[in-house]
Amino acid sequence: MPIVSPDALHESTERVCRALGSLPLEASLVADQLVGANLAGHDSHGVGMIPTYVTMALAGQLHVNRHVEVVVDTGSLVILDGVAGFGQVMGKEAMDLAIERAERHGVAMVGLRDSFHIGRIGHWAEQCSAAGLVSIHLVNVAGHRPAVAPFGGAQARLGTNPVCIGVPGGDGRPAALLDMATSRIALGKARVAMNEGKPVIADSIVGPDGRLTDDPTLVWGDPPPGALVAMGDHKGSGLSIMCELLGAALLGGLTIQDQSGPDRIYNSMATIVIDPRALGTAEHLVSETAAVLDYVRSSAPRADTHDVLMPGEPEQRARLARRDGIPIDDTTHAQLIASALAAGVPADEVGFV
Ligand code: NAD
Repeated sequence: MPIVSPDALHESTERVCRALGSLPLEASLVADQLVGANLAGHDSHGVGMIPTYVTMALAGQLHVNRHVEVVVDTGSLVILDGVAGFGQVMGKEAMDLAIERAERHGVAMVGLRDSFHIGRIGHWAEQCSAAGLVSIHLVNVAGHRPAVAPFGGAQARLGTNPVCIGVPGGDGRPAALLDMATSRIALGKARVAMNEGKPVIADSIVGPDGRLTDDPTLVWGDPPPGALVAMGDHKGSGLSIMCELLGAALLGGLTIQDQSGPDRIYNSMATIVIDPRALGTAEHLVSETAAVLDYVRSSAPRADTHDVLMPGEPEQRARLARRDGIPIDDTTHAQLIASALAAGVPADEVGFV
C-alpha cells in the first residue's frame, strides 16, 4: 500500500483543484481539509473524496470559486446559501461569520444551506475552538440517494447526517470533540473497506433480505441493494431525523426526500456557537472540562477494550501516527491518479506519490 507524505498529498490535491479552475486560496482550503481528515484517521473524508469532486465538477454540479450568499441576517441569526460551491470554502466562510457574531452577541446561530460536501465536520468545530468558542453542528446530507435505513427499516431513507460538538481547551484546540455520523459507520468507511477488500464492523449494514451484515459492497452499486444502519438503534435514527429537520428544513436547505434534481452531494448545517467569555465561565470551562475528562478516563477498561478514550482522542493519536506518511490503498491510489488526469493535470505533474 503506498504511503504518501502529507505535504505531497496536499500539493497533489491543490493541483487537481487548480486544474478544475479553483483559485489558489480555494485549492489550498480544499487540500487543508481533505489531508487534515486523512491525518485525523478519517480516510472516508480525506483525499479519497477527490474522484467524486472531479466527477461532480466536470458534470457541473460542483462549482469552483463561489462564496456564501447571505439569505437572512438578524445579527445573531444568519442563513447563508452555499450555492453548490466547494464546502471547504463555504464551511470556512460560515464559521468566520459565526465566530464574529458569537463574539459580538455571546451566542450565534449560523445556518449554511446547500453547500457542496463540507467534509469532516470536526474541522469546523476546530475552527471555533481555536477562537475559544463552544460549537454545536447538526448536518444533513441530500441531493443523492439516501444511504441509511431508519431504526426498524430495511430501506434507506436518511443520510449519514453527522452531529458534532466541540469544547475549547483554552490552548487553541478542542479539549473534547465529538464528531460522528448518525449511521453506525460513515458511508465513506464502507468505501474504504470495500477498496481494501475488508468487512466493516458487524451488523452495520442491512442487506436486501432485511438481515444485518458486515458486507460493505451492499451499499455501493446503482442502486445499492442494501443500506447503512442508524447508530444507537432508535436514538441514532431519531437524532438523524432531527439533523434533517434542524440542519436543513429550518434553514430552507434541500432535504432527503427531494430526489428530483441531478445527483450531487449537498450538505446543510446548523451551527450554534457560544462564547463562554460572555457567560463568565471561560476559565472554569477549561479547568472543569479537564477534571471531568480525567474522571471519566479513570474508569477501568472493559474486558474487551484496552483503554477509555475521550471524544477526539482517536483523532489525536492518528495525527501522531500519520504525521510522516498516510497509507493510501491501491484502489484509491489508482482512482486519485485517474481523477487528476480527468481534471486536466498533466501526466508528469499528477503526484500522489
Ligand atoms: P467515528 O465513529 O470514527 O468517531 C465518532 C466519534 O467518536 C469521534 O468524536 C471520535 O473521537 C469518537 N471515538 C471514536 N472511537 C472512540 C473510542 N474508542 N472511544 C471514545 N471515543 C471514540 O466517526 P464516524 O461516525 O465514522 O464519522 C467519520 C467522519 O465522517 C466525521 O468526521 C464526520 O464529520 C464525517 N461525516 C461527514 C459527512 C458529510 O456529509 N460531510 C457525513 C457523515 C460523516
